[in-house]
Amino acid sequence: MIDGFGRNIDYLRISVTDRCDLRCVYCMPEEGVPKLPHDAILHYEDMVRLVKVFAGLGFRKIKLTGGEPLCAKNIDYLVREIKQVPGIEQVTMTTNAVQLDRHLLPLYEAGLDAMNISLDTLDRDLFFRMTRRDKFPEVLENIRQAAEFGKIPMKINVVPMAKEQKLWDVAELARDYPIAVRFIELMPIGTGKEYDGCTREDTMELLTERFGPLTPYAGTLGNGPAEYFSIDGFAGKIGFISAISHKFCDSCNRVRLTSTGFLKTCLQYDTGEDLLKVIRAGGTDEDLEEAIGKALAGKPRAHHFDVSDGSMSVGDEAHGMSQIGG
Ligand code: SAM
Ligand code: SF4
Repeated sequence: MIDGFGRNIDYLRISVTDRCDLRCVYCMPEEGVPKLPHDAILHYEDMVRLVKVFAGLGFRKIKLTGGEPLCAKNIDYLVREIKQVPGIEQVTMTTNAVQLDRHLLPLYEAGLDAMNISLDTLDRDLFFRMTRRDKFPEVLENIRQAAEFGKIPMKINVVPMAKEQKLWDVAELARDYPIAVRFIELMPIGTGKEYDGCTREDTMELLTERFGPLTPYAGTLGNGPAEYFSIDGFAGKIGFISAISHKFCDSCNRVRLTSTGFLKTCLQYDTGEDLLKVIRAGGTDEDLEEAIGKALAGKPRAHHFDVSDGSMSVGDEAHGMSQIGG
């Protein structure tokens, strides 16, 4: 579907739940998020219905996110249902991998095309301080299992914030396995506003010192805005997603559906349409198409996280990534 700035929007990220079994400091408050009544959130049948409507409008790629998708009941059922929607070419997931072991086979059998696993450090103590949960051994073991299973392509996502994360250790996963390790710039959203991230340049310098030059990789890996680099002796690639310092809004291809059914058209702003309201009011698929069309027509041209004079505060997003579906 073409938005008001001529961009082809064909990628929908769905927050299947705002619950999570970790509490990453830059994403969720320590106490978690308030539990919502069942009727205030999208149910699986709502999500499948919406995906059918989106597919009819030209959407082709779906990412299941959250919160933690593996905390949602029978998530493989949802993957299977969405995979069967005519027009949908790719269903992927982003997960913290805490519970991946028992989901790996069902997700593969349901047809999951790829997954991104979030892992910020290989230091158990720092992992605990960054996520407020002592789950590092499980996560590492599950990543090892998934890499050995090898049937669901995966990438590792890292939010670089501090030197003590020993980013080179995480990068070494791309040396040992044919997977991409991507460094994602910290966004000033939710509790993320309270922290400073490392710049892309700092991370590149750190990796160059350790491993030698990073050579730009011309090929493509996935559909996202990451830029990839090769390092001699590495089986996989190193990637950077730098939404603030290397803004890519001109080629934005995505919108987000929150777990409360709000179609959010830009990560920074609260512009969009309440699709849950349309569904609960008994709206038809045509009503949903109309609401989606209206949201897309109003999709902002760009975010302004990079404007630091405070002038862009009106309409700023007040929710955290776990609620928006990062
Ligand atoms: N729980 C899953 C996970 O961690 O992959 C899916 C949801 S999580 C919100 C999706 C991604 O958003 C993770 O890679 C996480 O690191 C990232 N994220 C959360 N808050 C962020 C922030 N303030 N800035 C940048 N990335 C953030
Ligand atoms: Fe949970 Fe993912 Fe947010 Fe961490 S980043 S608190 S794992 S939703």
